[in-house]
Amino acid sequence: MSSSFSNLSLAPALARAVAELGYESMTPIQAQAIPIVLQGRDVMGAAQTGTGKTAAFSLPLLQRMLKHENASTSPARHPVRALVLLPTRELADQVAQAIKSYAKYTNLRSAVVFGGMDMKPQTLQLKAGVEVLVATPGRLLDHIEAKSAVLNQVEYVVLDEADRMLDIGFLPDLQRILSYLPKQRTTLLFSATFSSEIKRLASSYLQDPVTIEVDQSNAAASTVEQHFYSVAGEDKRHALHQVLRQRGLKQAFVFVNSKLGCARLARSLEHEGLKTTALHGDKSQDERLKALDSFKKGEVDLLVCTDVAARGLDIKDVPAVFNFDVPFNAEDYVHRIGRTGRAGASGLAVSFVAPSDARLVSDIEKLLKQKIELEALEFEENQPDIRRQGRINDGRRMYAQAQDAATADAPAAQPRGRFAAAHSAAPERRRESSRGPNPSRDPFFDKPYEPSTSTVAGTATETRVTSTRGGISANIKPKRRVAALFKSA
Ligand code: AMP
Repeated sequence: MSSSFSNLSLAPALARAVAELGYESMTPIQAQAIPIVLQGRDVMGAAQTGTGKTAAFSLPLLQRMLKHENASTSPARHPVRALVLLPTRELADQVAQAIKSYAKYTNLRSAVVFGGMDMKPQTLQLKAGVEVLVATPGRLLDHIEAKSAVLNQVEYVVLDEADRMLDIGFLPDLQRILSYLPKQRTTLLFSATFSSEIKRLASSYLQDPVTIEVDQSNAAASTVEQHFYSVAGEDKRHALHQVLRQRGLKQAFVFVNSKLGCARLARSLEHEGLKTTALHGDKSQDERLKALDSFKKGEVDLLVCTDVAARGLDIKDVPAVFNFDVPFNAEDYVHRIGRTGRAGASGLAVSFVAPSDARLVSDIEKLLKQKIELEALEFEENQPDIRRQGRINDGRRMYAQAQDAATADAPAAQPRGRFAAAHSAAPERRRESSRGPNPSRDPFFDKPYEPSTSTVAGTATETRVTSTRGGISANIKPKRRVAALFKSA
């Protein structure tokens, strides 16, 4: 099969948009999926993140919908014909932007609706009529209930990041949404990872689907250089600084497991002179979009984030991903490191592994089907030790305190790694922290964590997905409960 777009007989309007975006040949998922979707078949597609999944489903859907294209101003002439559902707001926004760019030279209209934003402008857009609707489940249900989204003419449904979409947090909403759609439709499921349970469940929504698996499913992109360093909790920030410096990295994602840890780590790194922004589920939508935007524009060096940023976000040229915390779910490891090495570029993924993370690492080994070698990280003797320094430019001794606070919600201090043990700063740090409260301590680290008020105003469904259970991301689902739900589905 030739992988050139010119062999696809795409409509001129779509071919022009694709050429303008600089796409020459199709990616493997596109080469396999596009002809099948053009035939109107259901698809279950597994592909790594960053492999061009969005164009793989949207180009053939747009091509099929062109027969309905019209320039009428009547909303009745622009019913929703394609529904694209995604688990996170950022991802919905990104996919909607991609679809807009592919449909740029057509009269097909598209819109995106997600929570955390004012309903009114979304309602106006929906009432004016759109052919392609991109949505997160919670907000879509709000629009269905408000009768601003009418889905009885939907011909195509796409579930992107389908494993998460079928997960416990979304399944009831998803079932309700699907109940509003015509039975006769084409359904496409795309995901970077597919567990066998999810495959079984997904097959109940699909009619005679064609399964597409490009590369090895559940695998990380081969262009990503992966390292797992054995680093004790209290040395992780030092290790982060060192790797950034040694590798000359300009930008990186830094993943942590809790919203509290995310906010505090970002604060500490900012104190240490790194331009940092935080992205987690308790930030308002506006704050989340601003954080992403400033990272995309290169205004900040580090995006410290929870797994809300792990899936599908396409930010070009991010050279590295750090797992400051090893993720609780092995599949999130694949998603996290998929933020680098996108579209064939090379990337670096560094995970800091504390002794208590052994089980999590072995879960990743099982998922990747490859042995993970833990490496020791030798701290440079002659490099400044961030834990002993005062705040950049003002000489105040804030690092040690920030360090103590930043790790306060982490598990109890771990025994230190072989090379890290030789690192001389710990006794001084301990002495400092035993001196009792210091008047220059940043009050941020003493405050209990509070979500932004604008997030609390979000929809119930989305709050459910992003809420914290004792500091642990709500995206971490107890396996037993998920399995129970499958039985009743
Ligand atoms: P996605 O996996 O859909 O998030 O796409 C990842 C990135 O690859 C996006 O920046 C796309 O614009 C880009 N992309 C998708 N298809 C192609 C292609 N055929 N050639 C070059 N870049 C592509």
